[in-house]
Amino acid sequence: MRIDIITIHPDLLESPFKHSILKRAAQKGLVEVNLINLRDYSTNKQKQVDDYTFGGGAGMVMMIEPIAACINHLKSERTYDEIIYTSPDGELLQQKTCNHFSTLKNIIVLCGHYKGIDERVREYLITKEISIGDYVLSGGELAAAVMCDSIIRLLPGVLNDETSALTDSFQDDLLAPPVYTRPQEFNGWKVPDILMSGHTAEIEKWRHERSLERTQQRRPDLFKKTN
Ligand code: SAH
Repeated sequence: MRIDIITIHPDLLESPFKHSILKRAAQKGLVEVNLINLRDYSTNKQKQVDDYTFGGGAGMVMMIEPIAACINHLKSERTYDEIIYTSPDGELLQQKTCNHFSTLKNIIVLCGHYKGIDERVREYLITKEISIGDYVLSGGELAAAVMCDSIIRLLPGVLNDETSALTDSFQDDLLAPPVYTRPQEFNGWKVPDILMSGHTAEIEKWRHERSLERTQQRRPDLFKKTN
Protein backbone atom coordinates (compact mmCIF):
# COMPACT_ATOMS: atom_id res chain seq x y z
CA MET A 1 0.00 0.00 0.00
CA ARG A 2 1.14 3.52 -0.74
CA ILE A 3 0.08 6.48 1.43
CA ASP A 4 0.98 10.00 0.30
CA ILE A 5 0.42 12.56 3.06
CA ILE A 6 0.23 16.20 2.01
CA THR A 7 1.22 18.47 4.88
CA ILE A 8 2.82 21.79 5.74
CA HIS A 9 4.63 20.07 8.64
CA PRO A 10 6.32 16.92 7.28
CA ASP A 11 8.73 16.95 10.23
CA LEU A 12 5.79 16.58 12.62
CA LEU A 13 4.80 13.34 10.90
CA GLU A 14 8.21 11.73 10.60
CA SER A 15 8.42 10.17 14.04
CA PRO A 16 5.20 8.11 14.13
CA PHE A 17 6.28 6.17 11.05
CA LYS A 18 9.82 5.58 12.27
CA HIS A 19 9.01 3.40 15.27
CA SER A 20 7.82 -0.04 16.20
CA ILE A 21 5.14 -1.69 14.05
CA LEU A 22 4.86 1.08 11.45
CA LYS A 23 8.61 1.15 10.94
CA ARG A 24 8.69 -2.65 10.50
CA ALA A 25 5.80 -2.47 8.02
CA ALA A 26 7.79 -0.08 5.85
CA GLN A 27 10.98 -2.12 6.19
CA LYS A 28 9.12 -5.25 5.07
CA GLY A 29 7.89 -3.31 2.02
CA LEU A 30 4.24 -3.69 3.06
CA VAL A 31 3.61 0.06 3.10
CA GLU A 32 5.26 3.14 1.64
CA VAL A 33 4.45 6.39 3.41
CA ASN A 34 5.54 9.58 1.64
CA LEU A 35 5.43 12.94 3.37
CA ILE A 36 4.86 15.65 0.80
CA ASN A 37 5.53 19.25 1.72
CA LEU A 38 2.68 21.37 0.40
CA ARG A 39 4.92 24.45 0.37
CA ASP A 40 6.92 22.86 -2.48
CA TYR A 41 3.83 23.43 -4.65
CA SER A 42 3.43 27.10 -3.81
CA THR A 43 4.41 29.42 -6.66
CA ASN A 44 4.67 32.24 -4.19
CA LYS A 45 8.13 33.57 -3.22
CA GLN A 46 7.38 33.19 0.49
CA LYS A 47 6.04 29.66 -0.12
CA GLN A 48 2.68 30.90 1.09
CA VAL A 49 -0.13 28.33 1.22
CA ASP A 50 -2.84 30.28 3.07
CA ASP A 51 -4.71 33.55 2.68
CA TYR A 52 -7.39 35.69 4.31
CA THR A 53 -10.99 34.45 4.46
CA PHE A 54 -13.27 35.94 1.80
CA GLY A 55 -16.08 37.82 3.51
CA GLY A 56 -13.91 38.68 6.51
CA GLY A 57 -13.54 37.00 9.86
CA ALA A 58 -10.70 35.62 11.93
CA GLY A 59 -8.28 32.98 10.70
CA MET A 60 -6.54 32.04 7.49
CA VAL A 61 -7.69 29.53 4.88
CA MET A 62 -5.50 27.13 2.91
CA MET A 63 -5.51 28.08 -0.77
CA ILE A 64 -6.68 25.82 -3.57
CA GLU A 65 -3.76 26.42 -6.00
CA PRO A 66 -0.90 24.64 -4.19
CA ILE A 67 -3.22 21.84 -3.09
CA ALA A 68 -4.54 21.33 -6.64
CA ALA A 69 -0.99 21.45 -8.08
CA CYS A 70 0.17 18.85 -5.57
CA ILE A 71 -2.78 16.49 -6.04
CA ASN A 72 -2.64 16.81 -9.83
CA HIS A 73 1.07 16.05 -9.83
CA LEU A 74 0.52 12.91 -7.73
CA LYS A 75 -2.44 11.85 -9.89
CA SER A 76 -0.35 12.20 -13.04
CA GLU A 77 1.97 9.48 -11.70
CA ARG A 78 -0.54 6.87 -10.49
CA THR A 79 -4.23 6.25 -9.83
CA TYR A 80 -5.53 6.85 -6.32
CA ASP A 81 -8.35 4.89 -4.69
CA GLU A 82 -9.18 7.71 -2.27
CA ILE A 83 -8.12 11.30 -1.69
CA ILE A 84 -8.89 11.87 1.97
CA TYR A 85 -9.16 15.18 3.80
CA THR A 86 -8.92 15.04 7.60
CA SER A 87 -11.68 17.25 8.96
CA PRO A 88 -13.71 17.52 12.19
CA ASP A 89 -16.94 17.56 10.15
CA GLY A 90 -15.99 14.43 8.17
CA GLU A 91 -17.23 10.87 8.57
CA LEU A 92 -16.18 9.50 11.97
CA LEU A 93 -13.18 7.15 11.69
CA GLN A 94 -14.21 3.68 12.82
CA GLN A 95 -12.66 0.24 12.69
CA LYS A 96 -14.75 -0.71 9.67
CA THR A 97 -13.45 2.40 7.84
CA CYS A 98 -9.86 1.34 8.64
CA ASN A 99 -10.58 -2.24 7.51
CA HIS A 100 -11.79 -0.85 4.18
CA PHE A 101 -8.89 1.58 3.73
CA SER A 102 -6.41 -1.24 4.43
CA THR A 103 -7.63 -3.00 1.26
CA LEU A 104 -6.74 -0.02 -0.97
CA LYS A 105 -3.58 0.34 -3.03
CA ASN A 106 -2.87 4.09 -3.21
CA ILE A 107 -4.33 6.84 -1.06
CA ILE A 108 -3.64 10.55 -0.52
CA VAL A 109 -4.24 12.11 2.90
CA LEU A 110 -4.49 15.90 3.01
CA CYS A 111 -3.84 17.62 6.35
CA GLY A 112 -5.61 20.92 6.93
CA HIS A 113 -4.55 23.87 9.09
CA TYR A 114 -5.74 27.27 10.27
CA LYS A 115 -9.49 27.71 9.64
CA GLY A 116 -9.41 24.81 7.19
CA ILE A 117 -9.12 24.57 3.40
CA ASP A 118 -10.88 26.39 0.56
CA GLU A 119 -14.25 24.66 0.15
CA ARG A 120 -13.64 24.09 -3.58
CA VAL A 121 -10.87 21.61 -2.72
CA ARG A 122 -13.42 19.61 -0.76
CA GLU A 123 -16.02 19.90 -3.47
CA TYR A 124 -13.89 19.05 -6.50
CA LEU A 125 -10.68 17.29 -5.47
CA ILE A 126 -11.38 15.27 -2.32
CA THR A 127 -13.14 11.90 -2.43
CA LYS A 128 -13.54 11.28 1.32
CA GLU A 129 -13.52 13.36 4.52
CA ILE A 130 -12.56 11.74 7.81
CA SER A 131 -12.83 12.99 11.40
CA ILE A 132 -11.08 11.20 14.27
CA GLY A 133 -13.57 12.51 16.86
CA ASP A 134 -15.77 15.34 18.01
CA TYR A 135 -13.02 17.75 19.02
CA VAL A 136 -10.89 20.24 17.09
CA LEU A 137 -7.16 19.75 16.56
CA SER A 138 -4.84 22.51 15.44
CA GLY A 139 -3.88 20.57 12.31
CA GLY A 140 -4.64 17.41 10.38
CA GLU A 141 -1.24 15.76 10.99
CA LEU A 142 -2.12 14.01 14.24
CA ALA A 143 -5.41 12.86 12.75
CA ALA A 144 -3.53 11.50 9.71
CA ALA A 145 -1.08 9.68 11.99
CA VAL A 146 -3.93 8.11 13.97
CA MET A 147 -5.74 7.02 10.83
CA CYS A 148 -2.62 5.67 9.08
CA ASP A 149 -1.50 3.76 12.18
CA SER A 150 -4.84 2.00 12.44
CA ILE A 151 -4.77 1.17 8.71
CA ILE A 152 -1.16 -0.03 8.50
CA ARG A 153 -1.40 -2.46 11.41
CA LEU A 154 -4.17 -4.24 9.50
CA LEU A 155 -2.08 -4.93 6.38
CA PRO A 156 -1.39 -8.67 6.04
CA GLY A 157 2.08 -9.47 7.39
CA VAL A 158 2.45 -6.34 9.52
CA LEU A 159 1.52 -7.88 12.87
CA ASN A 160 3.54 -10.93 13.84
CA ASP A 161 0.50 -12.90 14.96
CA GLU A 162 -1.84 -12.59 11.99
CA THR A 163 -4.94 -13.22 14.07
CA SER A 164 -4.09 -10.57 16.60
CA ALA A 165 -5.79 -7.66 14.79
CA LEU A 166 -8.94 -9.73 14.43
CA THR A 167 -9.31 -10.16 18.18
CA ASP A 168 -8.88 -6.45 18.93
CA SER A 169 -11.72 -4.22 20.11
CA PHE A 170 -14.36 -3.16 17.55
CA GLN A 171 -13.86 -6.13 15.21
CA ASP A 172 -17.33 -7.72 15.38
CA ASP A 173 -18.53 -4.68 17.36
CA LEU A 174 -17.14 -6.11 20.61
CA LEU A 175 -14.57 -4.72 23.03
CA ALA A 176 -11.53 -6.92 23.71
CA PRO A 177 -11.46 -9.06 26.87
CA PRO A 178 -8.96 -8.32 29.70
CA VAL A 179 -5.40 -9.65 29.29
CA TYR A 180 -2.77 -10.62 31.87
CA THR A 181 0.90 -11.57 31.99
CA ARG A 182 3.46 -12.59 34.64
CA PRO A 183 3.53 -12.58 37.62
CA GLN A 184 0.52 -14.75 38.38
CA GLU A 185 0.09 -12.90 41.67
CA PHE A 186 1.07 -9.32 42.57
CA ASN A 187 0.26 -7.72 45.93
CA GLY A 188 -2.26 -10.52 46.44
CA TRP A 189 -4.01 -9.58 43.15
CA LYS A 190 -4.49 -12.77 41.19
CA VAL A 191 -4.87 -13.66 37.54
CA PRO A 192 -8.18 -15.52 36.91
CA ASP A 193 -7.62 -19.28 37.41
CA ILE A 194 -9.20 -20.18 34.08
CA LEU A 195 -6.29 -18.58 32.19
CA MET A 196 -3.89 -20.97 33.96
CA SER A 197 -6.02 -24.05 33.27
CA GLY A 198 -4.67 -24.87 29.81
CA HIS A 199 -8.23 -25.61 28.55
CA THR A 200 -8.22 -23.70 25.29
CA ALA A 201 -11.95 -24.05 24.60
CA GLU A 202 -12.86 -22.96 28.13
CA ILE A 203 -10.48 -20.00 27.92
CA GLU A 204 -12.01 -18.91 24.61
CA LYS A 205 -15.50 -19.18 26.15
CA TRP A 206 -14.38 -17.11 29.18
CA ARG A 207 -12.84 -14.47 26.90
CA HIS A 208 -15.97 -14.22 24.78
CA GLU A 209 -18.12 -13.82 27.89
CA ARG A 210 -15.83 -11.08 29.24
CA SER A 211 -15.98 -9.35 25.84
CA LEU A 212 -19.76 -9.39 25.89
CA GLU A 213 -19.87 -8.21 29.51
CA ARG A 214 -17.41 -5.38 28.92
CA THR A 215 -19.19 -4.22 25.76
CA GLN A 216 -22.56 -4.26 27.52
CA GLN A 217 -21.19 -2.22 30.43
CA ARG A 218 -19.00 0.26 28.59
CA ARG A 219 -20.55 0.51 25.14
CA PRO A 220 -24.24 -0.37 25.25
CA ASP A 221 -24.55 1.26 21.81
CA LEU A 222 -22.25 -1.41 20.29
CA PHE A 223 -23.82 -4.19 22.33
CA LYS A 224 -27.24 -3.38 20.91
CA LYS A 225 -25.86 -3.82 17.38
CA THR A 226 -24.74 -7.40 17.97
CA ASN A 227 -27.57 -8.59 20.23
N1 SAH B 1 -12.48 25.59 11.39
C1 SAH B 1 -12.55 24.18 11.36
C2 SAH B 1 -11.44 23.53 12.15
C3 SAH B 1 -10.10 23.72 11.57
S1 SAH B 1 -8.91 22.89 12.52
C4 SAH B 1 -13.87 23.75 11.95
O1 SAH B 1 -14.37 24.41 12.84
O2 SAH B 1 -14.39 22.69 11.54
C5 SAH B 1 -7.55 22.79 11.42
C6 SAH B 1 -7.36 21.45 10.72
O3 SAH B 1 -7.14 20.43 11.67
C7 SAH B 1 -8.53 20.98 9.88
O4 SAH B 1 -8.47 21.55 8.61
C8 SAH B 1 -8.33 19.48 9.85
O5 SAH B 1 -7.47 19.07 8.80
C9 SAH B 1 -7.64 19.19 11.18
N2 SAH B 1 -8.56 18.66 12.20
C10 SAH B 1 -9.01 19.31 13.29
N3 SAH B 1 -9.81 18.53 14.04
C11 SAH B 1 -9.88 17.34 13.42
C12 SAH B 1 -10.58 16.12 13.70
N4 SAH B 1 -11.35 15.99 14.76
N5 SAH B 1 -10.41 15.09 12.84
C13 SAH B 1 -9.64 15.23 11.74
N6 SAH B 1 -8.96 16.35 11.43
C14 SAH B 1 -9.08 17.40 12.24
